[in-house]
Amino acid sequence: MAQTVQAAQIAEDHDVIVVGGGNAALCAAISAREEGASVLMLERAPEDERGGNSSFTEGLMRFVYSGRDDIVALSPDLTPDELASDFGWYTEEGFFDDMARVTQNRTDPDLCELLVKQSNATLHWMRRQGVRFLPQFGRQAFKVDGKFTFWGGATLAAVGGGRGLVDQLYRAAEKAGVKVLYNAWARELLHSDRGIEGIVVNVDGVTRRFVSRAIVLACGGFEANAAWRARHLGPGWDLAKVRGSRYNCGDGLEMAMRIGAQTAGHWSGCHAVGWERYADDFGSFDTMDDYERDNYPFSIMVNADGRRFLDEGADIRNYTYAKYGRIILQQPGQFAWQIFDSSVTHLLRPEYRAKRVTKVVANTIEELADKLDDVNRDALLATIREYNASITRDVPFNPNVKDGRRTQALAIPKSNWAVALENPPFEAYAVTCGVTFTFGGLKVTTDAQVLDTGNRPMPGLFTAGEMLGGLFYFNYPGATGLTSGAVFGRIAGRSAARAATNAKPQTRVA
Ligand SMILES: Cc1cc2nc3c(=O)[nH]c(=O)nc-3n(C[C@H](O)[C@H](O)[C@H](O)COP(=O)(O)OP(=O)(O)OC[C@H]3O[C@@H](n4cnc5c(N)ncnc54)[C@H](O)[C@@H]3O)c2cc1C
Repeated sequence: MAQTVQAAQIAEDHDVIVVGGGNAALCAAISAREEGASVLMLERAPEDERGGNSSFTEGLMRFVYSGRDDIVALSPDLTPDELASDFGWYTEEGFFDDMARVTQNRTDPDLCELLVKQSNATLHWMRRQGVRFLPQFGRQAFKVDGKFTFWGGATLAAVGGGRGLVDQLYRAAEKAGVKVLYNAWARELLHSDRGIEGIVVNVDGVTRRFVSRAIVLACGGFEANAAWRARHLGPGWDLAKVRGSRYNCGDGLEMAMRIGAQTAGHWSGCHAVGWERYADDFGSFDTMDDYERDNYPFSIMVNADGRRFLDEGADIRNYTYAKYGRIILQQPGQFAWQIFDSSVTHLLRPEYRAKRVTKVVANTIEELADKLDDVNRDALLATIREYNASITRDVPFNPNVKDGRRTQALAIPKSNWAVALENPPFEAYAVTCGVTFTFGGLKVTTDAQVLDTGNRPMPGLFTAGEMLGGLFYFNYPGATGLTSGAVFGRIAGRSAARAATNAKPQTRVA
């Protein structure tokens, strides 16, 4: 456990205060310590819920690598069988192209370049802090001719997933001498004409002030705030399920904007996925693995009208899942059913077999149509008939690549993995929209320093993680959030430590 201290024991004055307790905050805190700054970290959550959205992740991190040797350098304990895998590669150009393509060329080129170019070095830095990584056999690779073949990009995950990542980083922070306060709800930035002066924090219900010359805000987006979601993302977003932490309510964004920070990025955009229809309203560590429904590329998805409404096979999951939650939210009743033929159900991830799943099994298409709650029966039967008749059957189905097995002449095509629904038993899974994190953030320099609305750097104010605006628009290449938090967290911590040192009053000799 990181060094947990009672509020009363904490010195009032710290070189750097980091707000937040997830991946970005931890990387910032460790990095600031490396520069010799004294660091206080404020985590709003209690200790047993620490780590924000980062602790709800699979710990998967997208980064540039050139082949097996790069993987082994970060994950040296692989068995000979594992080493025989085809790890592929992921170039800087590939990462940059993925970011540009999925964001419709809106990603901030300077920030994106830093993200891409520092991704590999940052994972090595994390490894030096004690974070261990393993390839994601099975989840980011299928077996081809008996050998795991990775798609590239999102190949490594922290050992122990998100909770493992967070625990390893807290251990590193403790070792480095970072002070951590839990139940520490940051409320207001203190500033003067000179810049940041400190912060007002509610610690265990008691309001306190901490003095500091530099603050890193790494306290997440506003995904857990239903009113803000409706206000910024649009009508209906208050009805989405929150996949992760209940504590990311936009506090950091609000505090910074109140003192003149400039906003950046896609404020009406977010990462949102298809998620168990009757999931809890917020993420919880008990159910975090049960609600994902990411095998839709092998399904057809239908809405309450019995109609398909998107191209389930437009691309591999990593490049479509983050934008499909929005489209599901826009359907009548904010739900859909994923329907699978029995020939592909062996490909479904384990969460489809979890306890908390809304599932229907049927031996005929007619029985399925009778059993699907809230769906127009006749329209559904027509949709399935039309879909089955439209498939280019001479192209073999191959789950490992975009196989080009597509539909012909449908108003909404299915571009890959078009498998006819004709082999019972059929399985159907009900999904709604689960929001992951919001894209809107603060405008920063390449030193992660926040700019004000006049485009001037705000002395002593830095940000990282979900709060950093300008990287993601419309969509997101899977596993980039943790990498972004680590790359910019590290930069923000370093910049904040240097700013604090420069702002220290000089000792004068009389
Ligand atoms: C279910 C799920 C799976 C995901 N899987 C992946 C994945 O495998 N790979 C990947 O790259 N990304 C993944 N993501 C996205 C990833 O979680 C985020 O991009 C990343 O964790 C954001 O890190 P962060 O440090 O900015 O925010 P967080 O980790 O959310 O941390 C924010 C912190 O701020 C604290 N906080 C909030 N308000 C205050 C306040 N006022 N005062 C003090 N503290 C405050 C919170 O308690 C929390 O500790 C996933 C997200 C979810 C929800």
